[in-house]
Amino acid sequence: MPNCEASRKLIFKIAVPVPLDRLFDYLAPTGCHPAGLQPGIRILVPFGKRTQVGVLLAIEDSSAVDSERLKQAIEILDEKPLLSERDLRLLHWASRYYHHPLGEVLAAAFPVALRQGRPALLQRQRFFGLTPQGLQTLPEQLRRSIKQQALLALLQAAGSAIPSAALIEHKPALKALLEKGLVIEQESAPATRYVASTALPANPEQQVAIDAVVANLGRFAVSLLEGVTGSGKTEVYMQVIAKVLEQGKQVLVLLPEISLTPQLEQRFQQRFAVNMVSTHSKLTDKQRLQAWLSMQQGQAAIMLGTRSALFTPLKRPGLIILDEEHDASFKQQEGFRFSARDVAITRAKGLGIPVLLGSATPSLESMANGSQGRYQLLHLPNRAGNASAPSFQLLDIRNKRMQAGLSEPLLAEIQTTLAKNQQALIFLNRRGYAPVQICHGCGWVSRCRRCDANLVIHAAERLLRCHHCGSEQPLPKQCPACKTGELQALGLGTERIEQTLEALFPDKVIVRLDRDTTQRKGSLETYLEQIHEGRADIILGTQMLAKGHHFPAVTLVAILDIDSGLFSIDYHGSERLAQLIVQVAGRAGRADQPGKVILQTRHPQHPLLDTLLSQGYRAFAQTALDERCQAGLPPFSHQALLRVQAGKAEVPQQFLQAVCQMIVELNPGKVQVLGPVTAPMARRAGLFRFQLLLQSPQRKELHHLLDRLLPAIYALKESKKVRWSLDVDPLDLY
Ligand code: ADP
Ligand code: ZN
Ligand code: ZN
Repeated sequence: MPNCEASRKLIFKIAVPVPLDRLFDYLAPTGCHPAGLQPGIRILVPFGKRTQVGVLLAIEDSSAVDSERLKQAIEILDEKPLLSERDLRLLHWASRYYHHPLGEVLAAAFPVALRQGRPALLQRQRFFGLTPQGLQTLPEQLRRSIKQQALLALLQAAGSAIPSAALIEHKPALKALLEKGLVIEQESAPATRYVASTALPANPEQQVAIDAVVANLGRFAVSLLEGVTGSGKTEVYMQVIAKVLEQGKQVLVLLPEISLTPQLEQRFQQRFAVNMVSTHSKLTDKQRLQAWLSMQQGQAAIMLGTRSALFTPLKRPGLIILDEEHDASFKQQEGFRFSARDVAITRAKGLGIPVLLGSATPSLESMANGSQGRYQLLHLPNRAGNASAPSFQLLDIRNKRMQAGLSEPLLAEIQTTLAKNQQALIFLNRRGYAPVQICHGCGWVSRCRRCDANLVIHAAERLLRCHHCGSEQPLPKQCPACKTGELQALGLGTERIEQTLEALFPDKVIVRLDRDTTQRKGSLETYLEQIHEGRADIILGTQMLAKGHHFPAVTLVAILDIDSGLFSIDYHGSERLAQLIVQVAGRAGRADQPGKVILQTRHPQHPLLDTLLSQGYRAFAQTALDERCQAGLPPFSHQALLRVQAGKAEVPQQFLQAVCQMIVELNPGKVQVLGPVTAPMARRAGLFRFQLLLQSPQRKELHHLLDRLLPAIYALKESKKVRWSLDVDPLDLY
């Protein structure tokens, strides 16, 4: 804490993490000398009955509040700001662009521990290097242990001490080598020292991509790496990262899913002997704080993380990579609703560094930005190494005999695949046993009492559960309505398919991957390992399977139900479905064996399927963009969605009517006002939901309206009686 002296006349302007769009005035804490206090330091303040960790933004000598009513701040928590001026500017921008209160936006930039006011203390890193004896020992001499040999070889190749964070994989071997006196703990090692273990010789397309991004280092540019699944995008990332590390700079790598981090972490660890950190929601607050601080203070060179890692301060920023840039998880769907991709680009612009976006199925926005020249387009059209592209088959299941969602021709294909000792992957985007329970006697259905939705049967847990609000009840044994009718499970979920497959293939190992089977910490990793080691014959699962995993022995991929995706009411539906098909298909035949993809459908002539399968994702994207252009939909227009909910249906309606009235008074120009309408799910968790969509061909006009509208909404008396939120550039209209 700074050395402080009393100074009570100055007013601290502080952003507090509360949903109010203004700063708060405080008097300096007792004994504080404001000279030298910089904007961006955390400061503890009283707020209502509680205390809050705010961020000091300015010190002025006047306040609109009466001086008697001003409260005194409690304590200054940082000597120096943890966020740089450029990062503060970015957060200000994000607050304005997303029309979200600055205090909450600033809080989002900090890890939980700092939000709670913990000290920003970076623990000392431990480093390990070789003793003279270790330098002279040949790895082969460690006859008993391959793991110890590998670690010794790694340290010898590194030529300098390695931080413990980079040795997590090697913990037992490290202990053994320490005991043998081959390794010793050392003072420190530079964070940027790196070894390229086995960079693969890049193929010509990869080389073009690598050279293009490397040429951008040191200045702002956005590159979109469109590479089919298995084309070696990760290899491109790694070779570019190597160059950034050589320049002594840091790299931030963002992934859509926690489940993808271990895989990438491992590949990076084998390649780079630098201090690398990860951050995601499965780590403890303490671990996340350390990861954050080690980037902020420059001790770590690479950070891998999910969406929230985006705001991590970088001491020596070099490059931001977003893998699977199309993935909707990059958009935060609650609270501060931001797009990690779009903010990453603005951040990189401010920092003067390049952004590399990668995907096999880039979002339509990014495709449009690419073809309009705003992004540099890089293309990897072929699979790397020996792998070839999978072949597609549309399986028309109309009038076909089915066994719990599996058609006979598909079952035959599974049989053939298993007979060759290869793995089959089966995708169904619905977890649980069946999406609804119904009474054959009276027609009763398992509805959620609090939502406009059905309760899903979870057979193993003997529960009915709502996937929207989480309510649960025991699975009824008799019909709650007529007490006599027979209860039936209607429709299919992964749990049910698993049961059917177990009955059909009793001697085969079936692994089910969905949110229910991977709840427990480490269980996903265990399953993935099992699949990789060939101890699984059929892999069955949801969304999770669509994301970046590498399953070399899978040669057959089946997507059971694509029809429900063909008729989505949200205009994003077809984009999502095309991405899903290509991504799931991409799990097939990634190694030497060719892969086959079977899509069960009752609409084999559907134009989306036709374009996608006969001409590929690019052609699909072009068609879809043409359609969006004609309909005046994003990216050819810009949207903001105002969502409102309350316990009584009239309240949100009155609120939105008042908002509409204000919009008319503000003269919205070219901004179209669509609604108010009930939300597609009109009731959720007991609340009635309504929404209002604003759309404009010009982003500027939309934001000009929002700039004037938001303060008026905050001031509206109806706004106190509802829960409302604004979603700028919404990704789904639910
Ligand atoms: P993507 O990230 O595009 O899905 P990966 O980088 O995971 O692709 O590469 C897929 C497979 O191809 C990996 O096993 C990888 O080691 C291999 N690979 C990548 N680049 C090359 C290359 N230049 N030569 C040989 N194999 C490669
Ligand atoms: Zn009944
Ligand atoms: Zn519910």
